[in-house]
Amino acid sequence: MSGVIVTGAASGIGRACAEALVADGRRVALWDIAPAVADVAGGLGMPHAVVDVCDGAALSAAVDAAAAALDGIDGLVHAAGRVIPEPVGAYTEASWDAVLDVNLKAQAILAQLLLPHLQEAARAGAGPAIVGISSIEGLTANPFIPAYCASKAGLLGLTRSMAAQLGPDGIRVNAVCPGFIRTPMLQIALDVDEVRQGFEAAAPMGRLGEPEEVGAAVAFLMSPKASFVTGTHLVVDGGVTSRHP
Ligand code: NAD
Repeated sequence: MSGVIVTGAASGIGRACAEALVADGRRVALWDIAPAVADVAGGLGMPHAVVDVCDGAALSAAVDAAAAALDGIDGLVHAAGRVIPEPVGAYTEASWDAVLDVNLKAQAILAQLLLPHLQEAARAGAGPAIVGISSIEGLTANPFIPAYCASKAGLLGLTRSMAAQLGPDGIRVNAVCPGFIRTPMLQIALDVDEVRQGFEAAAPMGRLGEPEEVGAAVAFLMSPKASFVTGTHLVVDGGVTSRHP
């Protein structure tokens, strides 16, 4: 029985994705740059790696270790991500690269490393799949975080391109676009009452989303229930992007 790699699994949405997949009976290797991933994985009885997804050599070794621990790899959920709030006039080449590297480039590099494993999983009938965590910021304009918006829009392009290439191999590739979700990434903003209330009011459902609500959508896209779903994205935002302001 092979398994799924989840990046960014120490916290927030990535952790919820790993938990949802394990609840579905999947085996999961939890990866994060934060050592806390060991405790999360330990709680689930699953293997882990403390790894920087922007470090190509470390990724390669981590893929080999995950393939051994999981007895093959049949999926990837790329949830590792970061945001640096710097508008045009404030960002540097280094900060722009830092955001693009983790949010976008890492999924491209990882997919390439995983390709032989996913092809093998397809031949074994395991229904391999990739899900990237994009964002409503990849669909709409946020003036404060251009690098983040570009990375998340880029992830949707990467999703469609990979789905087109890998469909004939039986490998599905999709994305999820969360809205405002209660995680550590958003905490600084949520601590400001006006900002939190603005996020809540932006959603027709009148509240923030919970990481588990994104994890459930990801688990669906990773499952055989989504066997004819590829090259697309699922918006999980309580309706934020569905209405005109
Ligand atoms: P989070 O900060 O709780 O989790 C992000 C995780 O990624 C952290 O555990 C962090 O250590 C890990 N990470 C960062 N850089 C890494 C690297 N180089 N290598 C390995 N791991 C790394 O935040 P979250 O909100 O759970 O974010 C998860 C994903 O969801 C991100 O891609 C984020 O952009 C996306 N997202 C979040 C929201 C939201 O409202 N919280 C909305 C839309 C999209």
